[in-house]
Amino acid sequence: MNNLEGKVAIVTGGATGIGYGIAKRLANDGANLVMVDLDANMMKQSASEITARTQEVEISIGDVSEPKTAQEAVSKAINKWGKIDILVNNAGIGGVNGNIWELDIEEMDRVYRTNLRGVFSFCREVIPHMLEKDYGRIVNIASIVGVMGNAGQANYSASKAGLIGLTKTMARELASRNVTVNAIAPGFIDTEMTRVLDEKVREKLVEQIPLARLGLPRDIAHSVDFLVSDRASYITGQVINVNGGMLM
Ligand code: NAP
Repeated sequence: MNNLEGKVAIVTGGATGIGYGIAKRLANDGANLVMVDLDANMMKQSASEITARTQEVEISIGDVSEPKTAQEAVSKAINKWGKIDILVNNAGIGGVNGNIWELDIEEMDRVYRTNLRGVFSFCREVIPHMLEKDYGRIVNIASIVGVMGNAGQANYSASKAGLIGLTKTMARELASRNVTVNAIAPGFIDTEMTRVLDEKVREKLVEQIPLARLGLPRDIAHSVDFLVSDRASYITGQVINVNGGMLM
């Protein structure tokens, strides 16, 4: 367990799936949170489950790709706690699958908007506050397919590969100011995103995973928890693969 008492974290896409797992983990360690998501009802429900464990939680509803969503989330954190220590860019979409010659340009744009523009927008708003304190931990949730590619997911894999490039660039820009930036590349995790897959496809995926199961949101949350801790203060610009051994 990590001691995050007094720390302030923003987690995007925090209402469900991996983001909710991360938010719960950070709150259990004592962090105050701003959780950001699209769906107000689900967000309120998830936040109330976390608040029941006595952590202070603010919620912010909006699309991460709209700059005003990041501005609002940052204002909530600054007005209430005066700083932001941790940013976890988790919100992401899979988009429509298909070979590249079958995908619409609009579909590429839609995936980039959430998975890349959303991260860009949150980083732009949050980083000046981290620089003010000479302290920050940014963790971007990329994907195994951003590292190894995946037939049928040109839009998604390109967005996640782009996110890895963005992570390394920000790590270089911010290292001298004690702000670390890392990415986690999850393998296949049991959430709504993978529950849409046909049972046979899920079985085939599990056959390719040496640890013989899909991951759980908490498997990713534990790695985030490590990267935002003092134990990870000498780690920046890295991509941590959390995939049950699917990619070695
Ligand atoms: P999920 O279950 O679909 O949850 C994603 C959450 O993000 C949802 O609450 C969703 O809201 C929210 N969200 C989506 N677009 C948003 C936007 N534009 N603005 C604000 N919130 C938005 O997905 P997940 O599996 O937990 O995935 C979380 C992250 O991990 C994503 O970045 C994903 O690419 C990455 N990842 C997942 C897997 C996997 O196997 N599950 C593997 C590798 C990487 P709505 O539900 O209202 O749309």
